[in-house]
Amino acid sequence: MNVYDSERMYELMQPHGYTTTNNYDDADLVILNTCHIREKAAEKIYSELGRIVPHKINSDKQGKKLNIVVAGCVAQAEGKEIIIRQPMVDIVVGPQTYHRLPELLNTISNTSRRIVDTDFPIENKFDELQKARINNNSVAFLSIQEGCDKFCSFCVVPYTRGAEYSRSVNAIILEAKNLIKHGAKEICLLGQNVNSYHGEYNNKTYSLDKLIMEIANLENIKRIRYMTSHPADMTDGLIKAHGEVAVLMPYLHLPVQSGDDKVLKAMNRKYSSLEYLHIIEKLRHARPDIAFSSDFIVGFPGETDQAFENTLKLVEKVNYSQAYSFKYSRRPGTPGSIMTEHVAEVIKKVRLSALQEILNTQQLDFNSTFIGKSLDVLIERRRKDKQLVGKSPYMQAVHILEGQYEIGDILKTKVLAADKNSLKGDSIQLLAGANN
Ligand code: SAH
Ligand code: SF4
Repeated sequence: MNVYDSERMYELMQPHGYTTTNNYDDADLVILNTCHIREKAAEKIYSELGRIVPHKINSDKQGKKLNIVVAGCVAQAEGKEIIIRQPMVDIVVGPQTYHRLPELLNTISNTSRRIVDTDFPIENKFDELQKARINNNSVAFLSIQEGCDKFCSFCVVPYTRGAEYSRSVNAIILEAKNLIKHGAKEICLLGQNVNSYHGEYNNKTYSLDKLIMEIANLENIKRIRYMTSHPADMTDGLIKAHGEVAVLMPYLHLPVQSGDDKVLKAMNRKYSSLEYLHIIEKLRHARPDIAFSSDFIVGFPGETDQAFENTLKLVEKVNYSQAYSFKYSRRPGTPGSIMTEHVAEVIKKVRLSALQEILNTQQLDFNSTFIGKSLDVLIERRRKDKQLVGKSPYMQAVHILEGQYEIGDILKTKVLAADKNSLKGDSIQLLAGANN
């Protein structure tokens, strides 16, 4: 979602004469779009700010002004603390108010004023953002839902992104058409809790499965994905869509966090390990080749050795194609942070590597099953060595040796080799060209 927000901020600034640069010394404006989900992510911004400040001092000396903006969830959570800790920051703007960026920059121009804007505004951010999208990648993100009402006890999202909000179907379709017009073949629908989507459509309410069917009907759309889903919102309608909508890709990121029922309850996840496994089973029934990924947290307060073993057992049962796993990070203001029985860092470390060992093996095994078979690959970029890089329907990164193909082409590809993180292949046939 931060990638999406960053693209929108760029689109917002472009009509005001801004363009992108990789060099701080060329910049008039630096926006750090930040993540607050774990402590390490949040701390990174202060070291990055330390790297930017000398460029600002340099720019001042030359009579120019380099504005520094901190955006995103750290901005929302820490507000004016950021300016106190780093006085060279000019603007702090939260994820709900970044559409005001041009106005905020205008207000501080030629002054030494600093602004903190972390409102939850009345006006709709999406209505205020540019209607036209500049993104012309073959894979595009599209935010359909923001915020979260689930309040998992470890998580800052409900506090930083605010209450759940779903965009209207018409606004989403308009943005999807625009992205397709600019070359998108795949659209990934985004939301902190994307499958709790309930958007307005001609005085009715549409759920995610209905929205997916609308987007699947658009001309030239080749692939649809969505993330991140909460298991408790995996409705039968959405599960059925996986068996019925051909362009809905057979890959789902469905975070379980833990395989232990006591821990899941303490996390306030609203499902048991059996319920989660039952959802997986139903999805596999609807779409037999579907691949799963998940997020895991190890060392949540109160997690015993036995509870951790239960997570490993669940992993064995599901057999994931990919996964993201983290040590529990204590986040100020969340119920988890004031729980007793915090797990020692050394134990978290041991558990994380034990879990990752199994997940890595599953990932390598999954990738290896494709050697000698063919997969459809949507090309996303070309590397400096001319290799093409794209994704399989199962979200595997595929490197294609060479060929006169374009970004946006879908190639039938024979898989020659596999490692944990990617596949290597040879293109056999152009299935759909970038321009049709
Ligand atoms: N909405 C998604 C998750 C969004 S946050 C869901 O409900 O699953 C992305 C991931 O960050 C989470 O799935 C979780 O695994 C991890 N995470 C969130 N808070 C964390 C914390 N305090 N410590 C460690 N990992 C955390
Ligand atoms: Fe955070 Fe996801 Fe839980 Fe919402 S559902 S509180 S975003 S982990």
